[in-house]
Amino acid sequence: MLRIALIAHDKKKDNIVELASEFKDILTNHKLYATGTTGSRIIEATGLDVHRFRSGPLGGDQQIGAAISNNEMDLVIFLRDPLTPQAHEPDISALLRLCDVYEIPLATNDSSARIMIEAVDKGIINWREGEHGDDWKRIEI
Ligand code: PGA
Repeated sequence: MLRIALIAHDKKKDNIVELASEFKDILTNHKLYATGTTGSRIIEATGLDVHRFRSGPLGGDQQIGAAISNNEMDLVIFLRDPLTPQAHEPDISALLRLCDVYEIPLATNDSSARIMIEAVDKGIINWREGEHGDDWKRIEI
């Protein structure tokens, strides 16, 4: 079981809902986290159990970054909108940076996300599980 963060900018919300619906059977086997609005949309559409952090512009990206630095997140799917300036751009950059610092698999667009979820299903990135054994922590904020 992996801890997976799902985030989508506004113009990509429909995409992440579609993705979560399509891969529901795989995602349901993992612990799911999301920024506020993304989480609401996914829960509403799929009924998946998703822990919601704050909305991205209100600190949600930073909360996910903090989880990564605490070794409490294994994979990030972040469908970014590359064509719209974001007020919380510094938070976004910080999150992407921490993924690189901690070698967290990160997908920033739909096609990469599909490959990543297929890889999760095939057990290709199970090496993350070895990082913490049975010591799973449910993040409570
Ligand atoms: P949201 O945050 O899911 O709360 O919209 C995502 C973002 O825009 O960074």
